[in-house]
Amino acid sequence: MTTDFYHLLISDCALAAVLLGLFFYVSRVSRGVRGITAWGVAHFVYSLGAALLDGTAQTLSQSGAPESAGTVAGVGGLLACTGLVGLAWSVIQFVHQRALHAGERALMPMAVALSLGGWLIQGDSDAQGAAMSAVEVIVLAIVIWQLRLLRSGPDHVPARLMMIACVALVYLYGRDLAHALTGRYGPNPSWVNADLSIWFMLNFCMLMLASFRAAESLRQSALFDPLTGALNRRGLDNELRSRDRFVTLEGGLAVVALDLDHFKAVNDHHGHDTGDQVLRRFSDVVRGCIRSDDLFVRLGGEEFMLVLRETSPEVAHRLAERIRTQVMALEFAAPAFRVTVSLGIAHTRHRQTLFNDMMRLADEALYAAKRNGRNCIELRLHTARAR
Ligand code: GH3
Ligand code: MG
Ligand code: MG
Repeated sequence: MTTDFYHLLISDCALAAVLLGLFFYVSRVSRGVRGITAWGVAHFVYSLGAALLDGTAQTLSQSGAPESAGTVAGVGGLLACTGLVGLAWSVIQFVHQRALHAGERALMPMAVALSLGGWLIQGDSDAQGAAMSAVEVIVLAIVIWQLRLLRSGPDHVPARLMMIACVALVYLYGRDLAHALTGRYGPNPSWVNADLSIWFMLNFCMLMLASFRAAESLRQSALFDPLTGALNRRGLDNELRSRDRFVTLEGGLAVVALDLDHFKAVNDHHGHDTGDQVLRRFSDVVRGCIRSDDLFVRLGGEEFMLVLRETSPEVAHRLAERIRTQVMALEFAAPAFRVTVSLGIAHTRHRQTLFNDMMRLADEALYAAKRNGRNCIELRLHTARAR
């Protein structure tokens, strides 16, 4: 074997290995975001396979080892096709953040069969190359189709750049495929080395997208309570700062303070884990009752708050009553028990009301509900006098 064999392998795969390390690192930071490590691994496998198929096999056959060349090309083609499907899989997982469907999983055996067919039927690197070009075109088309869904936020720009890069690659590999099948449209000489740069751009943009997701997942964990999924205090502050909606009130603003009754006794009798389960199911009930742009906040322990925009006192009271009855209907097993919640509502129609005043008023109402025997609702109307 010539030293070129190793040079080609190392030069083509070194960058992919560095990128794999970077993708692995970003996926660790972003904790649980799907598709990031998968992209790095798939790209490395593809780079290795393509280097074996394109460069190394040619070098071997030129240096008088056609048999080794055939084997290297065969293995390279298989690796390249596997890596390509991995890329399509990772983009699907990244865009949708879900597991793969059966139809998507079936892509792998199809691509492997195509590559094996090229290897076994013709036994030379051209047929394998044609199979790889076909898989490349199909995979890139899938990637373009998926990336079109990333339209919002900072994802928009790298996703569009990746789509352009994929279109350019489809042009290149489409020409290779046409050449292999018809003998026409050979590789365009001015584009011969372009695919390396385009793949670099694709990886760079994918790294950007992954970093955006990592930043978003860190932001989410800073603003949301992990047990219940409700906003935490910082999340509430962030919402209050970033929205001017609280000052443009037509129907009025309601702030509801919620506190589970005798929750300490639940922990004492049934254990802390059961207490956590109560908090989670209680939060699910509340989320099921509110609108998507209402704010649901865990202030701490078993104390929660709702911020309801454009809500009259009557509507806020009806909502509170629905939460109260649904919480009362929750059943917990072994040994069976139920929980209740007390709610205090503060309501204002005045644009200048301070949010802190509303929280204080809702707290007053809540303590009145506790004094009244718990499992009930108290309402306080904010008067203009306060400010
Ligand atoms: P009241 O009806 O007056 O509200 O009584 P209470 O027992 O609900 O109120 P208290 O404030 O005395 O007790 C709250 C308890 O909530 C004490 C604490 O152990 C428990 N708690 C706070 N955070 C958590 C949590 O994250 N998980 C669990 N399981 N319990 C928690
Ligand atoms: Mg309580
Ligand atoms: Mg409490």
